[in-house]
Amino acid sequence: MEIERRVLVVEDERTIAEAVAARLRAEGFAVEVAGDGPSAVEAARRNPPDAIVLDVMLPGFDGLEVCRRIQAERPVPILMLTARDDETDLLVGLAVGADDYMVKPFSMRELAARVHALLRRAQKGQAPARDDKILRFGDLEINQSERRVQRAGVEAHLTPTEFDLLVHLAAHPRTVLPRERLLADVWGWADASGTRTVDSHIKGLRRKLGSDLIRTVHGVGYALEVEK
Ligand code: CA
Repeated sequence: MEIERRVLVVEDERTIAEAVAARLRAEGFAVEVAGDGPSAVEAARRNPPDAIVLDVMLPGFDGLEVCRRIQAERPVPILMLTARDDETDLLVGLAVGADDYMVKPFSMRELAARVHALLRRAQKGQAPARDDKILRFGDLEINQSERRVQRAGVEAHLTPTEFDLLVHLAAHPRTVLPRERLLADVWGWADASGTRTVDSHIKGLRRKLGSDLIRTVHGVGYALEVEK
């Protein structure tokens, strides 16, 4: 039997929270609901979820702060919900460690598909590595089995998605990978409308590992720039 996976739904609008929870329960998840920032952080601490569906606008403190606090303790895949199609909000959300986002209103079918995709990716990351070798490029060291990254001997704390993205780039060093391909390979999306998500995670990698590591090829994609 499959182990029941837990999803924490954080949303103060009760009708939305209940609809999301009902859909996820129907998909076989164990669901807990929190209605404000502090109780979300508390719930994640008490009963660590496998994934979080997190609204941005919340009482107490907002979803961005919830994301920051939870990710600082333990990486967990997060799907952010926002009422505003405001690019700044979305980019900040992805920068603080969300893995994906949806703009309200969204379909419950789409939400369930995104949660399944998040968990598939997280599970892939946790599976015993077939290849436990350590990738080294100059002062960059990527330990695939432990999912740890160091640069110049300093450990960088990457989110699960940032780590997967870095490993993809490192698998083809000095090769330009189109954003659409990264989106398909790392996120499992075929839809190119999510390429801003790739940009935002690249920003996160540069912030944590240094801006010289990844080269932007305008209009195309990204390449890991490392010494041979
Ligand atoms: Ca809200």
